[in-house]
Amino acid sequence: DTLTDSFTNAIKKIRFHDDEKALTKALDELKKSLLKADVNHKVVKDLVFKVQIETKKRGIGKDQFLAALRETLYELLEVGGNRGFIFASKPPTVILMTGLQGSGKTTTTGKLANYLKNKQKKVLVVAADLQRLAAVEQLRQITAKIDVELYEDESTKNPVEVVTAALKKANSGIYDVVLIDTAGRLAIDDELMGELEAVKKAANPSEIFYVADSLTGQDAVKTAATFKEKIGIDGVILSKYDGDSKGGVALGLSSQVQVPLRFIGSGEKMEDLEVFLPDRVVNRLMGFGDIEGLAEKTSSVIDEKQAKKLTSKIKKGQFNFNDFLEQMESMKKMGSMKSLIGMIPGMGNMSKALKDFDLENSGELKNIKAMVSSMTMKERENPDLLNNSRKERIARGCGLTQVEINRMIKQFKNAGKMAKKLSSKGGMKDLQAMMG
Ligand code: GDP
Ligand code: MG
Repeated sequence: DTLTDSFTNAIKKIRFHDDEKALTKALDELKKSLLKADVNHKVVKDLVFKVQIETKKRGIGKDQFLAALRETLYELLEVGGNRGFIFASKPPTVILMTGLQGSGKTTTTGKLANYLKNKQKKVLVVAADLQRLAAVEQLRQITAKIDVELYEDESTKNPVEVVTAALKKANSGIYDVVLIDTAGRLAIDDELMGELEAVKKAANPSEIFYVADSLTGQDAVKTAATFKEKIGIDGVILSKYDGDSKGGVALGLSSQVQVPLRFIGSGEKMEDLEVFLPDRVVNRLMGFGDIEGLAEKTSSVIDEKQAKKLTSKIKKGQFNFNDFLEQMESMKKMGSMKSLIGMIPGMGNMSKALKDFDLENSGELKNIKAMVSSMTMKERENPDLLNNSRKERIARGCGLTQVEINRMIKQFKNAGKMAKKLSSKGGMKDLQAMMG
């Protein structure tokens, strides 16, 4: 059960009129599904209470409930202020990556390096995990793949030595950012904290990031709190927010730990890192899709000009089959399909169905390509031309059934409609109405 489904279910319970009973039912549903999604019980209690008050203030009704829910979620996610990456006033910005073993530190270090590299920053990654077997080799492979420089020295087992030497090199002045990958442990212990304390002293980091595994649910919150208490952390990166993550952790984490959520990792690939933005998460939780996020993710792969053109086309509702195909092609380079699909307006509900969607050898992409290839240029540019006889011809041309063709065209059209609604004034309200 995704949160999106849960909210949608809860929302369905309200039948438009001033119905206290319906509101109670909806709130119950909301509470149950939030708990099921692994949101902390105290957070749930506060949230449900607030939604109740805020809905009543507005007058009981579906729109009012949605607005109250949206506002309450937003407030909850807002805690902490800073988002994304903050550069120190004087380079290099030094980041200490911390977390338990297996939480995703090394992968996230690579993702961050890649993210910064795409922003034309010069990055030095430091291999300071000298505990885990093959940890240095893992980082070697990651940095080679994204073409970012690595500082390593396997002749010592002392991370303080490595960090000190790496920073000496970085301070020669040409690096914008230094990312230090550290060792983790299976659980928090004094040895780990002692080592981190020493590395922290040697590195004098601009910020300390804690990488939390969202699959560990409320444990992620607990360990983050302990790390905050013991060594101090400036931000949390929530990893593995894809797959089977129940998702609820993201909702309570910043308010529970009182440290901002900075990034979200949503896959194993280097591209699968997103700046955490409350509105995006709220939009996605509520199934509205997110044009801004899509455009940003897209622009790191296709060039910015093309991405701008695309966004403006989506907003104007002029998005055609050629764009759709082009989009699919660029998505191939982008890693996780699921997170992207969730960002395409109107396709939020599809993300679950597409959980294991592998674009590189996906039948669906092949089908879409085959379908578009069987269209004339005019049809591609103007989807409205597609009447039954044209669809029949296309189906024959690409060897698909007409049912399949209809389904794909419908998906495409829905995406366009939703996108247009979403970007128009008052679009949110229309969308909410459509969702019922
Ligand atoms: P470390 O021990 O903290 O350095 O963790 P690693 O970076 O080695 O990651 C442990 C495992 O989690 C690896 O198999 C990664 O591919 C995987 N992983 C890391 N981040 C993500 C993520 O955002 N999504 C998914 N699905 N897997 C991830
Ligand atoms: Mg590691």
